This record gives sequence, C-alpha cells and structure tokens, in this order.
Amino acid sequence: MTIIRADWVIAEPGETPIERGAVRIEGATISAVGRFEDVRADAPHDEIVDGSGCVLAPGFVNTHVHMYGVLAHGIPLAQAPDGFWSFLEDFWWPKVEDALDQQMILAATRWVGAELLRTGTTCFYDILEAPNALGGILLAQRDAVEQLGLRGLLSFEATERIDTQNGERGLQENVEMIRAGASAGADALVHGLMCIHTTFTCPPAFIQRAAALAAEHGVLLHAHVNEGRHEGLLCAERYGVRTLEHYDQLGVAGPGLLASQCVQMSERELDLIAERGVRVSHMPLSNCEVGGGIAPVPELLERSVTLGLGSDGYLNDMFAVMRGAFLLHKARLCNPQVMPAHEVFRLATHGGAEALGIGDRIGRLAPGFRADLQLIDARFPTPASAHNVYDQLVLWRSGANVRDVMVNGAWRVRNHSVVGFDAERARAHVGEQARRLWNAT
Ligand SMILES: [Zn+2]
Repeated sequence: MTIIRADWVIAEPGETPIERGAVRIEGATISAVGRFEDVRADAPHDEIVDGSGCVLAPGFVNTHVHMYGVLAHGIPLAQAPDGFWSFLEDFWWPKVEDALDQQMILAATRWVGAELLRTGTTCFYDILEAPNALGGILLAQRDAVEQLGLRGLLSFEATERIDTQNGERGLQENVEMIRAGASAGADALVHGLMCIHTTFTCPPAFIQRAAALAAEHGVLLHAHVNEGRHEGLLCAERYGVRTLEHYDQLGVAGPGLLASQCVQMSERELDLIAERGVRVSHMPLSNCEVGGGIAPVPELLERSVTLGLGSDGYLNDMFAVMRGAFLLHKARLCNPQVMPAHEVFRLATHGGAEALGIGDRIGRLAPGFRADLQLIDARFPTPASAHNVYDQLVLWRSGANVRDVMVNGAWRVRNHSVVGFDAERARAHVGEQARRLWNAT
C-alpha cells in the first residue's frame, strides 16, 4: 500500500483542491483521500511517495485522438487544399488514410501512446481511419497500448467510402475489438467502441446497423458531427434535415451516441443533444486548424450536456487543449467569465471520463476509483492558493511539467520518463514509417 502526498490534491475536479493532501492506493484502486495527516494516521506503515512541490490530480482523459495523425506532421504538399472537400478528397484520404499500413500505424501508436503518458494523459479514445489496413489492426494496437500501460478505448472509423464490403469489414473490426475487451474483463486496460465516420460517407442503413451493433455489445457509438459547415448543409440537401435531426430520425441520437466536434450547430441541434442525452467531445485546437469554427461549448454546458475534451491527434498536450478551451469561448462570446479554469480542468478529466461512459471508474481521486493520476510540478512563480490552483495549471503549465504518472496503480512515468520506453529508438522508427507514408503516393 502506498500514500502519495502533495502540496495540493485535486480530488474532485472543479471543486476546491486539498492543501497538503494525500491519496492512499491499494493495488489498482484508490482507498482514501484527504489531508496528509489524516490519511497517514489511518495507515502509519504505508510507503510514502513524496510529491512535495507538486499538484496531485487525476490523469487527463483525451476523448478523441487519431494516433496515426502524427505521421502526417510536416508532410509535403504540392498544393495546400483550398477547402473542406479538397482537404479530404485530394489530400487526407488518398495521401494519408488510404496509404496507411499496419507497420506505420503501430509505430505511430507506440510514439503517441508514450507522448500521451508523458504529458499526463492516462486514458484516451482513438479513432483509426485506414481502410487498407483492416484485419486485426485494432488488436495489434491494443497490444502496443497495453505494453505502455496506458488505458484506452480503440475503434475503427467504419465507412462505405471505399465500398459496402469495406464498410462491413470496418464494423467487424470494431466488433472483434469490443469482444476481445469484454472477454479480458472490466479490469483490462484496453477496450473497444463502435465507430462510424459521418453522414456523408455512411448511408442511413449503415448508421443504423452500427448503432444496433453498439447496443448489442453495450458500448457507445461514435461519429464526427458537423466539424465544419459542410455536413449540416449536405444533410439538409440529401435528407431535408440537419445532421443531429437526421441521427434522431434514424433513432440513433441518445446516451449511446458520442458526437465529436459539434462545431456548426443549429439551436435545434443543440436542444436535441441535451434532450436525447447525446455525449459530446470538444476539440478546440483542431477546430481552429481546419478552419471549422468555434464549437458552442458554453451553450452545451448551459444545457447540462456531458462533455469532454480531445486533441483530435493534432496537439496532444492536454494543457494546450485546455488553454484553447479556456481562451476561445471567451473571445467568441466577448465574455471573460465563461469557461473558468476549474471547469476546463473538470472537462479534461472527469468530464472526459463521463463522455466515454467510464466516469464511475476514472477521472476523480475518490475511494473505489482506479488509481489513474499525475504529479504536476507546482513550483509557480506566484503563491499558489485554493482560489488559483486551477488557473496556475491551465494557464502556466504544460506537459513538460508532468513529473510522474500512474495508471491503474502502476507508475508509468517517473521523473518525466516513460518507464521501459526507448524514446530514441521509437522516434527513429516512427520517422522511418512517416518517410514510407510520404513516399507511398
Ligand atoms: Zn477526428
């Protein structure tokens, strides 16, 4: 049994942190939280890990990653895409997704998995888009993630973009991963999720079939929704209603649906999300990157929608993602009071866990919760106090300040290094695979 002590403990993200606090861990589970003196008095013989100078907080939950995306960082482009469709049709689909093979994907998985851990993320949800790498790729990714000791949900973004057969293979890839996770038991680190692309690559019957498979296996169905203006307009043209209304008419909009992006939304779509209990993943930085707009997140939170933050495989440092969420909405609404730091930190931890349907196990440091946590260097230049700890973290820390990370009761990062991970070797390997991808088409 171990007690971790720290200057500050964020036990309930969003609530007042505990000064000179501690967490007691038994195996993979948290058994006590409180002031250090009190936790120590009940367990005088436990080993103590000293987190003096640190904030002890739940690990981040990144609700939307594309690990393979790292391979496209800096990819040479003959011509920059001039819009949404040309980005997909002339660049992203032919030159990245369709060219990916298993070797490339696994190199990216190892590299990004280690990067996530090193910067304080203990759980992530990955969406793989690689129609020519189907056939056991998710299980191979699972092995790589488990080797790092990271917690994750893996999925393949099934679509009929190539053909109907490829669409079905994508769904079956997910079913295989979901079954493997279920048979490994609830305590296994890696599980599966059902996932489709969008309404413009998935016909109604395909979406309903994916939703039925998700319900059959008791998992969420994930989809990208209205990343920019185009999907809503196209949906209106094809089906006479906007995207969320279309999902609702198909009987798919409910607590079983995890909708990512949700940037360009009508008032009716926002109401539908709240009324049906749809979960949302918000990616402030990648929305900027693709010129999609700024998602109406304060409006969703006002409606009490379950919402988490994600990186979209763009900038995977959750401190950067939090800063995006903290700043963008204040500018858009001309209101410095929206999205306060404590709320943003909650979204990056327990909010994300709830969005992924695992908020009863991770995202808080509470008795019975899994010991997924991080020690963040808290030697700030100005005095830390209960009223400013969240601001100090969200605004003036980065992944480089994460000192130690524990997942499921095991240390996975010690003194800024990922345990058992040869970073130089992995970097050389992922670089080699990126070169292969860049030369593939
Ligand atoms: Zn995405």
